[in-house]
Amino acid sequence: MSKIARRQFIQLSAVAAAGCLVRPGADAYAQDMPKIEESDPVAQSLKYVHDASTVDAASRANPAADQTCANCALIQGADGDAWRPCQIFPGKSVNANGWCSVWAPKA
Ligand code: SF4
Repeated sequence: MSKIARRQFIQLSAVAAAGCLVRPGADAYAQDMPKIEESDPVAQSLKYVHDASTVDAASRANPAADQTCANCALIQGADGDAWRPCQIFPGKSVNANGWCSVWAPKA
């Protein structure tokens, strides 16, 4: 495993562990959650942006042009909501049109 991959793995493990602390059902309260800022240190480390169209698809680990938070396996909350909870950013909401480097396809 390269140093960068190891570092990202450790970062994601810490973030995922934090995500486990979010109580079930908390996603129902997305409207009460503060919106994640692109300047947030964790957001920056995961290359989060509010608008996925601003990210060069070729730069993604799994290149695909149609990756957005709305079609990511880690999104929570209701389809159609503009801002929704995400398992990676506990206590914050992400833009449905956003993207980060953790994006994973829904099963
Ligand atoms: Fe969360 Fe997925 Fe959006 Fe990343 S791409 S912020 S993991 S919903």
